[in-house]
Amino acid sequence: MTKKMLVDLGRCIGCWTCAMSCKMGNHLADDEYRVTVRTNGSGVGIDRPAGVYPDLHMNWMPIYKKSCTFCATRLAEGEEPLCANSCPTFALAFGDDADPESPYSQALARVKGKHYHVFELPPYEDSRANVEYATKA
Ligand code: SF4
Ligand code: SF4
Repeated sequence: MTKKMLVDLGRCIGCWTCAMSCKMGNHLADDEYRVTVRTNGSGVGIDRPAGVYPDLHMNWMPIYKKSCTFCATRLAEGEEPLCANSCPTFALAFGDDADPESPYSQALARVKGKHYHVFELPPYEDSRANVEYATKA
């Protein structure tokens, strides 16, 4: 049994609520983040799309740092992580991968039913383990 986070990239709107709820709830310093939100666009900054108007496109991707504890204190109290709890689009699903009723397992079954591609970040990203991403194949 492993606790995992599944990120449905099709639902992520790049709002940074996950990052801010983590920062506030965990009392992090101004320059400290345990999750940040990457813009996959032009590559020059947040919310900068790729392409040439009117053919513009971008999407977003929460990146979990190794400092993320999966909100260990909240988990011990039976609460879910702050980021998953606050995401307005339900892009984040957390839980035990051995429990078919967990939000993680339910979300995984949903995206697999849609034939989404599920993947983890490669080692060079130096991100937290046990975070998976789902996107349309
Ligand atoms: S994962 Fe949710 S809270 Fe985080 S940026 Fe995406 S939509 Fe916003
Ligand atoms: S699981 Fe908890 S510690 Fe990790 S990024 Fe989300 S809110 Fe922060």
